[in-house]
Amino acid sequence: MASPSPHWLGCHLKLQQQDKRSLVDSRWPPSYRWLAMVYLHVGSRTRFIWAASICLFLLLAAPSPSSAFSRSERAGFQRTIVDYRTRLNPKYKKIKRKDTRYIIVHTAELGLKHTLRVVSRGKHFRNGRRTNGGHTHYVIARNGRTYRIMDKKWVADHAGRSMWNGQTDLSRLSIGIELVGYHYSPITDKQYRSVGLLIDTLQSVYGLDDRAVLTHSQVAYGGPNRWHKKDHRGRKRCAKNFDRAKAGLGPTWNHDPDVRARRLVADAQLAKVFYSRRARVAPGALWRD
Ligand SMILES: [Zn+2]
Repeated sequence: MASPSPHWLGCHLKLQQQDKRSLVDSRWPPSYRWLAMVYLHVGSRTRFIWAASICLFLLLAAPSPSSAFSRSERAGFQRTIVDYRTRLNPKYKKIKRKDTRYIIVHTAELGLKHTLRVVSRGKHFRNGRRTNGGHTHYVIARNGRTYRIMDKKWVADHAGRSMWNGQTDLSRLSIGIELVGYHYSPITDKQYRSVGLLIDTLQSVYGLDDRAVLTHSQVAYGGPNRWHKKDHRGRKRCAKNFDRAKAGLGPTWNHDPDVRARRLVADAQLAKVFYSRRARVAPGALWRD
């Protein structure tokens, strides 16, 4: 019998058991050696079934690398979302969003009851002016319970006068999430879990990376006024206490693109929160004290 060619794996069927062992490198870890021995001893059909099963397992069971949560966690979370869509003000004009480029996180600056009413029914101003509601897609209560205010395909009126990377009127291009609470008080761990799961799901639906997740305070801007001659950041403080890392989000913008391009004047306090070296090294660290 001709000597076996270990370099050609296909010929191992003709090899004696001893020769098969010689194909397994003794320097491999024991588990690898064991798997390789099993692999060499089974028939080609079994080997095919094995390989197919492993591929299927990796495809279905393992979380995708970009996701901080498993599929079952996300599916479980989806089932807990409270449908609040029937409460939406009928006057709210539903317009389909043509493109989705951002997810914008807000702090509601109200308690749960008032938040749900305002985002669904609308705001009432002292001068008698009213809005028609539809001010967000989702609300997340302090206990993590999440409410769907309107279908995510509609434009929600949530970002107001806004700009990011030269694009204005971000309500047309974004999903809005309201966290019940205030920009100066901590966001709860349960809210972070829900907002993390929600963002994770929306990112996979719309193909968005972590840089697409911004806070309202980052994107809002104000027009010229008594204190500012030009368009400027700082119109909102909304969600400046949002700790991205706690929501499972990775690195993001280290500068404000509209300030850099001189479209807007910076706000010193927000710049420190979002773009200082310290903020980048330890997101949210400024707000833990
Ligand atoms: Zn806001």
